[in-house]
Amino acid sequence: MAGVARLSAKAATFTESVIRDMTRLAVAHGAVNLAQGFPDFACPVELKEAAKAAIDADDNQYAITWGAPAFRAAVAAKVARAYPGWTVDPDSEICVTCGATEAMIATMLGLVDPGDEVILFEPFYENYGPDAILSGAQPRLVSLRAPDWTFDEAELRAAFSDRTRAIVVNTPHNPTGKMFTRAELDLIAELCQRHDVLVITDEIYEHIQYLGHGGHVPPATVPGLEDRTVTVNALSKTYAVTGWRVGWTIAPAALTAGIRKTHDFLTVGAAAPLQAAGVAAMGLPASYYTGLADAYRARRDLLCDALAEVGFGVSRPDGAYYVMCDTRALDPAGDDVAFAKRLVSEIGVATVPGSSFFADPADGRHIIRFAFPKRHETLLEAASRLRKLA
Ligand code: PLP
Repeated sequence: MAGVARLSAKAATFTESVIRDMTRLAVAHGAVNLAQGFPDFACPVELKEAAKAAIDADDNQYAITWGAPAFRAAVAAKVARAYPGWTVDPDSEICVTCGATEAMIATMLGLVDPGDEVILFEPFYENYGPDAILSGAQPRLVSLRAPDWTFDEAELRAAFSDRTRAIVVNTPHNPTGKMFTRAELDLIAELCQRHDVLVITDEIYEHIQYLGHGGHVPPATVPGLEDRTVTVNALSKTYAVTGWRVGWTIAPAALTAGIRKTHDFLTVGAAAPLQAAGVAAMGLPASYYTGLADAYRARRDLLCDALAEVGFGVSRPDGAYYVMCDTRALDPAGDDVAFAKRLVSEIGVATVPGSSFFADPADGRHIIRFAFPKRHETLLEAASRLRKLA
C-alpha cells in the first residue's frame, strides 16, 4: 500500500493474530470461547489481596526498570525451591517484563541480529514467527510430527548452521501439549554447544503438566545449557492472571544486560503493584501447584473425552492446556478456517484453525485447537453444543 497508509516492510510480512481474532468472533456470536488460552475462573485470593494492598500502600509509581527487587528475589527463591541446584542471581540474572510476550520480543531484539537464523519447532505458538521477523532474523523450521509430536534428529541437525543464533524451545508446548524429554534436550544441548547457539525457552506452562514430578525439565538445568539459556516465564497461566501482564526472563548476567536494555525502551517496566502481588504468588505453597495440575488434568480429560465422542481425532496433551484435534472425520474438505468459522457461528464454540500454527497453512488444514483453561460448566456447555456436530 502506498502513501500515508503504508505499513512498515516488517509489519507487512505477518498477519494479525488469528487467536485474538477468534476471540473477537466468539464475543460477536456469543460463543463459548475455547480459542484464546485464558482462564474463566478466579485467580488465587492471595494475589488479589496483595495487589489491592500494594495499590493502597501507594506502590503506584515506576518500579525499577528490570523489576522490583522484592519480586526478583521472590522469583529466584521460587526457582531454587522448584528446581534444587538451579541458582539465579536476582540482581543480575532476571528482567521483569510485561508478560512472556514482551519477555520473548525483548530477548530477540536484545540478543539476535538481522541476518541471524532462529530455529523454531513447528507447529509453533504464533508469536514466535513475528518475534523473529521483528528482530530481523530468519526463522528455520523443524517439524514436530503427530501423534506424539517428536522431531527427526537428522532434520534438527540439518537446521543448525553457522548462521544459527538461537533455538526457541517451548515446554510444555503450545499448541501440541508436548513435553520435551531429557534426551531431546541433551541433543539440543549438544548442537547448541557445537554451533555456539542460544536456547530461548518459553516455560509459561511449567506447572500445567500431567507427567508428574520431574516431568518438566527446564533447559537451563541441562548440562551444557546453563550459560546459554534464556528462560521466559510469566504469572499469566500459573496464577490465572493473563490480564496482569507480568513476566520475566532468567539468563546469565551478560545476556540479561542486553535484554534489560531493549526491555527498558520497549515498555520501561511492568505494573508495580502487580509485581508486589507477584511476591505473594511466588510464596504459594507446593500444594498450590499439585492442585493446579490435578484441576487441569480433570479439565483435559473432560474435554478430550467429549471431543472424541463427537468424532474428533484427539491428541491428548502431556502438558499445557490445549488439545490439537484431527478434523478429517467431521471436515473431510480440510478447510480449517471455514470449519472453525462454522463452529463459532453455527455451533457456538470458538476454536483456533490449525493453519495459524504452521508457516504453510496447508499443514494445519485438518487440525483445530481447543483451549481448556475453563470451569467445568463452561466445558460441559461447549461439549453439549459440539454434540450437534455428531
Ligand atoms: N507463550 C506461550 C507459549 C503462550 O501460549 C502464551 C499465551 O497463550 C504466551 C507466551 C503469552 O504469555 P503472556 O500472556 O504472559 O504474555
